[in-house]
Amino acid sequence: MTRELVAKLRARGAHRGQGQTSISYEPEEMKVLLEEMCSAEGIKLQLHTRVAAAYRERNRLRTIVTESKSGRQAWRAEVFIDTTGDGDLGAQAGCEWEIGQAENCPCQPMSMCALLVVQDALALAHVIHGSGTGHGKNNSATKRAFLKEIRRAGFDPSYGMPTMFPMRDNLVAVMINHEYGIKPFEADRVTEATVRARAEIHGIVHGLRKLGGPWEGVQIAATPEQIGIRDGRRIRGRYVVAKEDLLKGIRHHDGVVRPTFTVDVHALTRADNAKHAYSNAGVKMKPYDIPLRALIARDVDGLMMAGRCISGDFISHASYRVTGNAVAMGEAAGVVSALSVRDGLLPHNLEWERVASALAKVRA
Ligand SMILES: Cc1cc2nc3c(=O)[nH]c(=O)nc-3n(C[C@H](O)[C@H](O)[C@H](O)COP(=O)(O)OP(=O)(O)OC[C@H]3O[C@@H](n4cnc5c(N)ncnc54)[C@H](O)[C@@H]3O)c2cc1C
Repeated sequence: MTRELVAKLRARGAHRGQGQTSISYEPEEMKVLLEEMCSAEGIKLQLHTRVAAAYRERNRLRTIVTESKSGRQAWRAEVFIDTTGDGDLGAQAGCEWEIGQAENCPCQPMSMCALLVVQDALALAHVIHGSGTGHGKNNSATKRAFLKEIRRAGFDPSYGMPTMFPMRDNLVAVMINHEYGIKPFEADRVTEATVRARAEIHGIVHGLRKLGGPWEGVQIAATPEQIGIRDGRRIRGRYVVAKEDLLKGIRHHDGVVRPTFTVDVHALTRADNAKHAYSNAGVKMKPYDIPLRALIARDVDGLMMAGRCISGDFISHASYRVTGNAVAMGEAAGVVSALSVRDGLLPHNLEWERVASALAKVRA
């Protein structure tokens, strides 16, 4: 699926970077591409809809309730997949879960990103963290140079390694903000963090514009409606991906994703940020397998997870939480759910050989 997406983005000229693992893409093109792909497959979407409750019949998840402009709606299905990132559905269904390093949430910080339009991206090449784009180099020098510019504008950003990514022509994305110690299910605190982060971005961009030179005319094209969340609930599955798996580069007979992304732990506190804005927490990972079992809830039948809310520990989550892995997990969970419905078997009762052959066909 990742290969297909990258090829389609490339065909639209919306993809920057070589290969499959280190790319950037235009968010607006990705949105419309995903909608077109769903439409072509006859997938019915309902946007702006939140899972609000889950109901079990004994141990089996049977009904979920959502809220939207259509009011409260109940949905029955044979298998559900929790892709809420924060594990909202798993938690509502009564699954055990963990978050951050421990219960009181020393968590990875949240960050708001923003899209900017600059007058001449080439004039800012020294601060643009390239992805083989010809706009800059993939090293921390560009981040240090960007930090220097932000300080020259009179700001000390809450994220110590501010990054500017190339998107297309004079469209770039920036990540310059960290919000510490917030749980994603505390709506009031997520709201405060969102408002604070947006104010920080606006302040810094206005400050850069005042510098003139290559910054002249820099504009904010978009900020998201909600701050980005790194750490959410990790729903307990039939396998827990662990730090040791990364150290060993573990293989599983039912591996569905093989992450290659490093452990990426952003500073948990403002004090940490002053020393290391992010680090690999001393873990040198080797590519490892995520088994299907980590995508199947342990405590509730008929529930799968995909994306950053699957079953793992703090360190492994810091590696598998990124987009490419989430795509492959979603693909695997989708195939398994479809087989499960077709064969009338719960996901954990499917024969692995049948799953492997169906997944191989989809991935061929
Ligand atoms: C600031 C930042 C920078 C990042 N940079 C990179 C990067 O450079 N490269 C990379 O690969 N990854 C990066 N990541 C990680 C990556 O974006 C996420 O980890 C990845 O998107 C996880 O995907 P997901 O689908 O599991 O969760 P999410 O992308 O969080 O998606 C969850 C979705 O579920 C919806 N949702 C939540 N709760 C409910 C509910 N109750 N009911 C219905 N819907 C709900 C949300 O609105 C959202 O649309 C970054 C993350 C952040 C925060």
